[in-house]
Amino acid sequence: MNTWVQIPQNSDFTIHNIPFGIFSTNNTNMRVGIAIGDEVLDLVLAEKAGAFKNISFDINVLESKTLNDFISLGKEITSKIRETIQQELCNENSVLKNTDNVLILQNKVTMHLPVSVGDYTDFYSSIEHATNVGIMFRDPANALLPNWKHLPVGYHGRASSIIVSGEPVYRPKGQVLPPNHTTPIFQASARVDFELEMGFVIGKETKLGETINTEKAEEYIFGKVLFNDWSARDIQKWEYIPLGPFLAKNFGSSMSPWIVTMEALAPFKLQGPDQEPEVLPYLKCDGLKNYDINLEVLIQPENCEETVVSKSNFKYMYWNMSQQLAHHTINGCNVKVGDLMASGTISGKDDTSYGSMLELSWAGKHTVKLNEGGERKFIQDNDTVIMRGYCEKDGIRVGFGEVSSKLLPAL
Ligand code: MN
Repeated sequence: MNTWVQIPQNSDFTIHNIPFGIFSTNNTNMRVGIAIGDEVLDLVLAEKAGAFKNISFDINVLESKTLNDFISLGKEITSKIRETIQQELCNENSVLKNTDNVLILQNKVTMHLPVSVGDYTDFYSSIEHATNVGIMFRDPANALLPNWKHLPVGYHGRASSIIVSGEPVYRPKGQVLPPNHTTPIFQASARVDFELEMGFVIGKETKLGETINTEKAEEYIFGKVLFNDWSARDIQKWEYIPLGPFLAKNFGSSMSPWIVTMEALAPFKLQGPDQEPEVLPYLKCDGLKNYDINLEVLIQPENCEETVVSKSNFKYMYWNMSQQLAHHTINGCNVKVGDLMASGTISGKDDTSYGSMLELSWAGKHTVKLNEGGERKFIQDNDTVIMRGYCEKDGIRVGFGEVSSKLLPAL
């Protein structure tokens, strides 16, 4: 596919990608766009120019504050729209070529949270991460709890505090139990951390009582984003027993603005890790269900250059998205368009690929050196945490852009 749009080298937003997002400019209100190279294609103007005249759908979904109604059109329509955009951007005689303002530079637009998230679930599906945390917090000999290899462990998170890349997060305050104390104190968290995760957005609803099987699960996934599940480790350590994370997690979670579709990610499928012991039949799956997505985390102290502190990959996930969705719905729990399911921290095998400062600093035992701005055990005020991700194979690149958020001092 050759496009007439100028695509910079190493761009995440090649003609093979075409991710969807919600943007606005000084002159236009919020609407659906796709990213191509350094630009955004305005789908409202593209539609007015006649680009989608062969597809029958409610055009009002394009001039919307979220992608929920667009996604609800169903993959049959949204895939057709995506393919039509690809064709138009490759057609030298496209109506889009002479349409004023249909392409706007990305640095001239404001990106918004792409979906209204009704429910947000966070899994815990990286065996390396779960093992590291188990070693640090519990027992090195029994790092994984007995259920871990039998089901994708997860918890219900909070949707109200999910923010889009670029918005800041405030250092949370709360109860912590300092070492050698028997009663808690109240303070601003001293152990604010990131969690390198990816999220997937539900594209098709189910009814209460229905389940999704692993074979069909990807039909229910619209696409994927980068996700930073901000965490306060000192608050977490005191509060999490017995019901799991609560205020240590819900003060903010950041997501990237462009949703990369499952169609764009299809060429990057691969085999996941072996699962031993054998899983129950409803969790078994055939075919390639993992994805080769390179991930990295960077820390940028204020007025300093950024430093890569971790390089990981989504392919390490022990439990894949199809298994997560099958498990989530096996009891009849329904899902809705726009629901967000996050992977859990994605750590690799060695200490350059850990997906949290908790692991990189091994619970604060050592420091992570930055190129500029000192060293870190956890995240300091005014640090910006940036996560990037991309797939690359046979010269084809499909990327996610980034999710970037600054940690501001406690209010
Ligand atoms: Mn998490």
